[in-house]
Amino acid sequence: MSIIKLENVSKSYDDDKFAIQNLSLVVKDGEFLVLVGPSGCGKSTTLRMIAGLESITSGEISIDGQVVNDLSPGKRDIGMVFQNYALYPHMTVEENLAFPLKIRKTNKKSINDKVNEISQLVELNDLLKRYPKQLSGGQRQRVALGRAIIRNPKVFLFDEPLSNLDAKLRTQMRNEIISLQRKLKVTAIYVTHDQTEAMTMGDRIVIMNNGQIMQIGTPDEIYNKPSNLFTAEFIGSPKINIFTVNNISKLGNTLSINDKTKYIAIRPEDLIIDKQGTIASITNIENLGHEFLYQLSMENSKYVVRNNSTLDVNIGQLVGLNINCSRLLQYDEKEELIYD
Ligand code: ADP
Repeated sequence: MSIIKLENVSKSYDDDKFAIQNLSLVVKDGEFLVLVGPSGCGKSTTLRMIAGLESITSGEISIDGQVVNDLSPGKRDIGMVFQNYALYPHMTVEENLAFPLKIRKTNKKSINDKVNEISQLVELNDLLKRYPKQLSGGQRQRVALGRAIIRNPKVFLFDEPLSNLDAKLRTQMRNEIISLQRKLKVTAIYVTHDQTEAMTMGDRIVIMNNGQIMQIGTPDEIYNKPSNLFTAEFIGSPKINIFTVNNISKLGNTLSINDKTKYIAIRPEDLIIDKQGTIASITNIENLGHEFLYQLSMENSKYVVRNNSTLDVNIGQLVGLNINCSRLLQYDEKEELIYD
């Protein structure tokens, strides 16, 4: 069992500015939690504070009820995987895997057994005698993974582990990491700036901005009920459409808009082109094979419609826009979701 708790954690590197401000969070036992947000929002700092690699300015971090604020990284029982692999270049795969056990003075037989078990788990058994420079990026990341899990840590921490890999390998490793974590049932925190990784890997996602949490939720909640405009615009590709109250009145639907509504957001797949109308002009059409994206301009604002199949329209053509009313999201002047 491993529950990680952060209570009002703050961190300032310089005296005047907070990298993390009053962050509170509970990671459930066995959960795969993803921290996502733009560069500089404080994801790595949060992870490094949990690992003990960075001190905490104020607040409390506990693992399974034990406060770890003053515990050295080695005593926190954490396995960590970084973007740059951090393998020992002068050691073979086998030696890299064995290293965490060797420094804990595990006996030779146990080390051999464990290296065999783990190298099979991360599919490295044919490469044990190779050095890191003789491996591909994906294989190196597997060694880093194996080394992180070999001593059964209570917690896994991942800091952008797939950023150095090409797109195809990233997808493959994404699935490998998730199935490994499900198999081992170890509580994991995964940092990324990539919304696809966040959506596809996380049991829950924490959206961060400026050292604060914007929303915590399942991928479904984050995508379908973003609790603020920042989250709505950060997750989803192409980006969600934002209308002002004035603009929305031009659409074909009769909508019931809340008195407090300042912004209206609608996903590209919930905005519908009406060939009979003339309020927006089509500025571009993208054929992605499995879907079509229609870029539109209306009153100097840009919008995008996603459709599974091609529509019989052309660039420059004037069209109307309708929306799927049940999917309408309304935000107040503080850019927070108005719940109905
Ligand atoms: P992220 O991982 O989301 O890109 P970081 O946690 O690395 O963000 O950084 C959060 C903020 O803290 C940024 O403003 C960054 O410039 C600052 N920061 C990170 N590390 C240091 C450091 N060692 N010294 C001073 N400022 C730092």
